[in-house]
Amino acid sequence: MFPTRRAALVVALAAPALVRPAAAQTAAAPAPAIAQAPGWYRFRVGGFTVTTVFDGYNRRPVEGLVRNTPLPEVQATLAESFLPTATYDGPYTVTFVDTGRLLIAFDAGTGGQLTPTAGLLAANMAAAGLDPARVGLVIVTHCHQDHIHGLTTRDGTAVFPNAEIAIAEPEFAWWTEAGNETRSPEGQRGNFANVTRRFAPYQGRIRRFAPGAEVSPGIQSLAAFGHTPGHCIFRVADGGDQVMVLADTTHRPELFARRPGMQSLFEFDAPAAEATRRRVLDMVATDRIRVIGYHFPFPAAGFIARDGEGYRYVRADWS
Ligand SMILES: [Zn+2]
Repeated sequence: MFPTRRAALVVALAAPALVRPAAAQTAAAPAPAIAQAPGWYRFRVGGFTVTTVFDGYNRRPVEGLVRNTPLPEVQATLAESFLPTATYDGPYTVTFVDTGRLLIAFDAGTGGQLTPTAGLLAANMAAAGLDPARVGLVIVTHCHQDHIHGLTTRDGTAVFPNAEIAIAEPEFAWWTEAGNETRSPEGQRGNFANVTRRFAPYQGRIRRFAPGAEVSPGIQSLAAFGHTPGHCIFRVADGGDQVMVLADTTHRPELFARRPGMQSLFEFDAPAAEATRRRVLDMVATDRIRVIGYHFPFPAAGFIARDGEGYRYVRADWS
């Protein structure tokens, strides 16, 4: 015997506990990303061609994201930028620099192995005319999983078969010395096994540089420690023009540039990361330097403008 619609409704009303977990489940496991127009954005820096390529995003609760600020204050700051106040979308964007001689990638994306709402990099690279086999250098800004998962496929094959990898010496040293594992925050200990796994097919092609060194002609590294022990940012300069690749100096700027004192869950050493964030944001705002941020809203490029006690992100319009 089938229950009538009315009977089913009565059951649903009488058992709200059965309804709520289903709704919560929907929020915790978002549907795969909706396919938008190809997510890439291109501009010139002197004779270099820079392309930012969207990989997708990760959705998580706002609660727990900022460790040193009461939740209502975090939510009010998000609302100022018309962002949702219950869930937080962290976008991922990989930057490519074609110097004419060499195609360089800054980080490698998620490789479609982190969350169902990311993994668009390969398709968006193809749409942008960027062939992974043509990438000659991958500069790893730091070793968090959202930046290095994409170095390899699920079965451990190199995604960039002809690339050398460049990484700051203190960053590589930290995550490859097993003794450091217990000296790392608990949430970051998975990075040790992941670094071994993702760098494996590139053995013999891993170049370590001293923070501050020129990594490739026109690409200068700058120490920006705190987010991870050897996190670096990069000045990309040619012909009197420049753009600064900020990596994870700040997560979404609507929160962490707007209020640089907010410390995210993702920081290895939160006070050091905050000091770095304040120093770098001050520099790029004062000198009016173009910036790219890995977790900025797409196209992930623009300017940082001083605004009250913090800063605001001004989206690129460089066509
Ligand atoms: Zn990141």
